[in-house]
Amino acid sequence: MGLDSKLLHNQAFIGGRWVPASDERRFDVTDPANGAVLANVADCAVQDAVAAILAAQAAFARWKELPGKERGRLLRRWFELITLRAEELACLLAHEQGKPLSEAKTEIAYAASYAEWFSEEARRIYGDVIAAPVAGREILVLKQPVGVVAAITPWNFPSAMITRKIAPALAAGCTCVVKPAEETPLSALALGALAEAAGIPDGVINILPSTRAHELGVVLTTHPFVRKVSFTGSTEVGRIIMRQCAGTIKKLSLELGGNAPFIVFDDADLDAAVAGAIASKFRNSGQTCVCANRFYVQARIYDAFAENLAAAAHALKVGPPFEPGAEQGPLISPNALAKVEELVADGLTKGAKALTGARRHPLGGTFYEPTVLIDVPPGARIVHEEIFGPVAPLIRFDTEEEAIALANASDYGLASYFYASDMSRVFRIARAIEAGIVGVNEGIISTPEAPFGGIKQSGIGREGSRYGLEEYLDIKYVCLGGIAPAAIDDPGNRPR
Ligand code: ADP
Repeated sequence: MGLDSKLLHNQAFIGGRWVPASDERRFDVTDPANGAVLANVADCAVQDAVAAILAAQAAFARWKELPGKERGRLLRRWFELITLRAEELACLLAHEQGKPLSEAKTEIAYAASYAEWFSEEARRIYGDVIAAPVAGREILVLKQPVGVVAAITPWNFPSAMITRKIAPALAAGCTCVVKPAEETPLSALALGALAEAAGIPDGVINILPSTRAHELGVVLTTHPFVRKVSFTGSTEVGRIIMRQCAGTIKKLSLELGGNAPFIVFDDADLDAAVAGAIASKFRNSGQTCVCANRFYVQARIYDAFAENLAAAAHALKVGPPFEPGAEQGPLISPNALAKVEELVADGLTKGAKALTGARRHPLGGTFYEPTVLIDVPPGARIVHEEIFGPVAPLIRFDTEEEAIALANASDYGLASYFYASDMSRVFRIARAIEAGIVGVNEGIISTPEAPFGGIKQSGIGREGSRYGLEEYLDIKYVCLGGIAPAAIDDPGNRPR
């Protein structure tokens, strides 16, 4: 399918209008599979970010007053339109991001599922009434929208990372300014167009395509009207955002890097573990923050697991997104490819061996062969750094204690996975592992019903589930005093 979709927009979306950047600058969006220019898009400047914040602030006054049920109805309509136009959205996404069309379709369904879930949650915002310690008082707890939300999103899930932030924000009664990644603004703009078509009022969602990430970041994290920043991206940029938000004490959600351990115990179902490893490691060519980054395999089954995983990885079909049956697309950029090559070279120099891959794919460009490395030494960089590519490094262990110590020896704590069948072991490990998400005998863990998020340097806050809605709500404690006591009806005073 070509890029002739009506959902292809090349202007910024501010206050319900499609506008060029205030200084008229534009930038090219390219197809990572072949380098072709897909669109030339408005490159928003600082003034545009300020205009978007003002539009969002103006829209907030009305949007927060709509009943949750009504906000939910509009979100539901957005979900329906995303679902109706899923093919076109998937096509745009595959073009600008490079993932196989089948994966792009899965992402659109996943992105839509957040609009659906939070359309339902919008009418389920609950406060509390707490027993007061003295007579004549009530303690009320109200939940109110925080205000204007700035959402900064990455390129690896150009649609889902946006709905995962916007849908709960809108459900809560907040309005948004979104800065998508410069590699993938087209999916974001298409979602904006569908929000417009769904009847979501002007200014409730504003979208700023831009290459000027740092400059816009400064405005979005320091403007006093922005009350919350929700960021998904690298830990490095997360730190900058957190620092910048300190000046105005903004509420903050951070979904940052991971270094997910994938542990296979010797009582695991080997075939299931290999299938889970393939799903977790090679989805989006290894470019997700929850991708397994390092594999710890118990000695007794190490060789069998390595051999089967290498065979399955070797069988993955590498190809451009629109080639039928393609399972592995290109990496997002030459820099991403260079990083993967550097990490693999470091591992091999330090004694690791490649069972399959470990080189660029004959297709050229940024295609890289699915790779399995064995005997990776613990000091190799690939064990400690986020690979963001299709490489599985395997390390042997003997005891449960050793596996936990290895898994927890990381500053990150986003996803983790392990395969085991003994029930006591399952509970012991699930409790001991230092991660925000644990997949037990499961390689795919993301769903809008569950609270996605990390601990340690992987982030703050949760996305999805009822916890995801709370991120966009402030608590207001109302101390209601002066309540006169009821007249006490003393049965002794009643006329006989
Ligand atoms: P990745 O390595 O996945 O590209 P980044 O953290 O660099 O992760 O990018 C994630 C998002 O953060 C993108 O939208 C990017 O443009 C944005 N970004 C990068 N640097 C900054 C910054 N200094 N301030 C605000 N946003 C930034």
